[in-house]
Amino acid sequence: MTEAQWTLKLAYLYPDQMNIYGDRGNIIALQQRCAWRGIALEIESVDVGSRVDWSSCDLAFFGGGQDSGQALIAEDFLREQREPLTQAIETGLVMLAICGGYQLLGHYFLTHTGERLPGAGILDVHTVGGKKRLIGNIVVETTRQQIPTCREERLQLVGFENHSGRTYHGAGVTSLGRVIVGYGDNGEDGRAGAMYRNVIGCYLHGSLLPKNPQLADHLLLLALQRRYGTSAVLPALDDRLELQAQDTMVQRLRG
Ligand code: GLN
Repeated sequence: MTEAQWTLKLAYLYPDQMNIYGDRGNIIALQQRCAWRGIALEIESVDVGSRVDWSSCDLAFFGGGQDSGQALIAEDFLREQREPLTQAIETGLVMLAICGGYQLLGHYFLTHTGERLPGAGILDVHTVGGKKRLIGNIVVETTRQQIPTCREERLQLVGFENHSGRTYHGAGVTSLGRVIVGYGDNGEDGRAGAMYRNVIGCYLHGSLLPKNPQLADHLLLLALQRRYGTSAVLPALDDRLELQAQDTMVQRLRG
């Protein structure tokens, strides 16, 4: 099979309500990195009331939102998508969830005003809102153990976080990495992001994937191999500018 015949489909959850601090940039980055390689990335937006054939999807993206935006879609998400999405994840669907989307994949989000938004319980995490928002640039160190496609043994991811929620991990998830600069999941235990099967949830807006092309390619490769077999490879791209920008941010933030 030649690369040009490859097609992937991404489900974009609630783009109207769950798209904050440039989260849509993640979709643009995935689409562009596919286009450069002759891979067609089809985007299906999942809105309130949408029916989705999850078996046809390779990737899913769930961005962040205001507490109010999350409350608007939470019920629909649980009613319409929770069950089929859980099944798809159990069979290897690749998913990235940022901030509000990450919170809704967990058990629940208790907002700082006391509203309890139940989550899908796909990730073994729960979130409690605090009065002080956790805001700023963030550097997270992850390793090849978490991101096996990564060329370096250690990888420093850069992003921007802005959340009131503090997310705590249960035993069913592994951490994406540890916080080097910033707050991370709760500002207390140094954890940043949670992983389960092919799902990554974290607080890194930024947008995350344009700033961290290694992570974008990790997700694409997982999706490609799930659909086309483990011999599928992603041709390398010239990422010198992206990697230089990433490194500059890491150096600047680490002081
Ligand atoms: N509303 C959530 C919080 O403040 C998520 C924010 C976000 O997605 N940036 O914790």
